[in-house]
Amino acid sequence: MVIGAGPAGLTAAWLLGRQDVRVLVLEADTIVGGIARTSEYKGFRFDIGGHRFFTKVRAVEALWGEMLGKEMLTRPRLSRIYYDGKWFDYPLKAGNAIAGLGLLRAVAIVLSYGWIQLNPITPELSFEDWVVNRFGWKLYNTFFKAYTEKVWGIPCTRIGAQWAAQRIKGLSLWSAAKEMLIAPFRGKGGTKIRSLIEEFKYPRLGPGMMWEAFAARIAQQGNQVRLSSPVVALHHDAGRVTAIDYQAGGIVTRTEVEAVISTMPLRQLIESLLPPAPDVVRQAAANLSYRDFLTVALIVDQAEMFPDNWIYVHDPNVRLGRIQNFKNWSPEMVPDQSKTCLGLEYFCFEGDDLWTMSDADLIALGTKELAAIGLADPARVIDGTVVRMPKAYPVYDEGYLAALEALRMYCQTFTNLQLAGRNGLHKYNNQDHAMVTGILAAKALLGEKADPWLVNVEDDYHEQGDADAFDPSQDLTALLTTQPLVPKAIDRA
Ligand SMILES: Cc1cc2nc3c(=O)[nH]c(=O)nc-3n(C[C@H](O)[C@H](O)[C@H](O)COP(=O)(O)OP(=O)(O)OC[C@H]3O[C@@H](n4cnc5c(N)ncnc54)[C@H](O)[C@@H]3O)c2cc1C
Repeated sequence: MVIGAGPAGLTAAWLLGRQDVRVLVLEADTIVGGIARTSEYKGFRFDIGGHRFFTKVRAVEALWGEMLGKEMLTRPRLSRIYYDGKWFDYPLKAGNAIAGLGLLRAVAIVLSYGWIQLNPITPELSFEDWVVNRFGWKLYNTFFKAYTEKVWGIPCTRIGAQWAAQRIKGLSLWSAAKEMLIAPFRGKGGTKIRSLIEEFKYPRLGPGMMWEAFAARIAQQGNQVRLSSPVVALHHDAGRVTAIDYQAGGIVTRTEVEAVISTMPLRQLIESLLPPAPDVVRQAAANLSYRDFLTVALIVDQAEMFPDNWIYVHDPNVRLGRIQNFKNWSPEMVPDQSKTCLGLEYFCFEGDDLWTMSDADLIALGTKELAAIGLADPARVIDGTVVRMPKAYPVYDEGYLAALEALRMYCQTFTNLQLAGRNGLHKYNNQDHAMVTGILAAKALLGEKADPWLVNVEDDYHEQGDADAFDPSQDLTALLTTQPLVPKAIDRA
């Protein structure tokens, strides 16, 4: 049994199917792909946030190719930051950044950086501490604070330094400045990193196309992805999950299971255990929090609007966080080339004013904010729709690491339960890493030495000195060759 038909769950189910294991995938939603789905409105296709396909994991890249072949487009990337009424290239480029900031502010940034090098914040606990120590107060207040607080909905002083360390790893004002100065002199066909920044892969019809292809392969293997079937309870006994209750068509169905891979949010998984988990475990689960997200898709009666794939809106005067122009991801995302479909991204909490606003009001808000930053004439916005995505981001706040460790230890006491995926492991995974965790979860159930918890969201897949960790240089064949030690939780069909 696999819970969730997002990238992690589908990859796990597909790999199990390849090994002739009978699998049922239960998915709460009406479509596959999870957060990486493609939604459709009157023929206009859009993502929940634009989903680039990029990876340093050779096996994942090969798998994407195997699933979609020529349907995977290579797309040029252009993204900019809107701040203080001006446009900044992203990644920042020296000339453009100085022109936008003005020479005085640029000098103040350098002085502020010098000052913090002499007076660093210790201990470095929060996101703010981490960024200020590497970029200085001035640049932090200009480019990091407002946008980060829009994304997370909490002050940067309450976001753990680990998050910054993972996401902005290896960067400082000094290294960024060096990159800005060197980049223009690099020839075409430069380093791999450069090409990752400048182009990415994207399915012709959006990311959902990939996950639909996975679901089709799973069906070919004789297994089933059952939609609109949320799992509501996991029964367990003596360290094994014995049965699962899921809702379908208004009735709750119980099905016995041999083994389970869960990609549902970890907090929800713990809350669904019957008998209930010990109080201390339930408390740890309650300490995990999430950031929710909604996309206002606007159809604009205009063929060309701006060349970017997406724009970061750092301006604190609008609530809008990012704007996607889906036609620039793939022309086939729009059914009529005389129109444009923009995805306006709002970060929110389930139940807050944005989340509960009516779709019509959200469309009006999006239209107003788009006009406020000079991107569209409101009269040309002819239609729109809204998609709300709960638990889009696992939050890395002060207490999450201790809570997660307690939950990991508890879940590992189950001999036939593996967790995988972004919310399944409460890790800020992209699609590729979510897939790798799915692969490792499947392999672990097949009795191999594999542990999805060891996949880190950044490049290092190896916990220090751990021989069981995933090797990113493995090719597809090596990765998918399973060599069971002792069949652990599953008998092959
Ligand atoms: C705004 C945004 C932009 C992003 N951009 C990128 C990008 O450019 N590139 C990239 O690679 N990644 C990107 N990501 C990350 C990507 O979306 C995730 O890494 C990926 O979707 C994680 O896959 P998953 O299978 O772990 O989880 P999910 O996609 O969350 O899938 C989990 C599935 O489980 C289902 N489920 C939950 N509870 C239950 C239940 N009780 N019973 C049954 N089913 C259940 C859900 O409905 C869902 O379908 C982005 C994410 C966001 C929020």
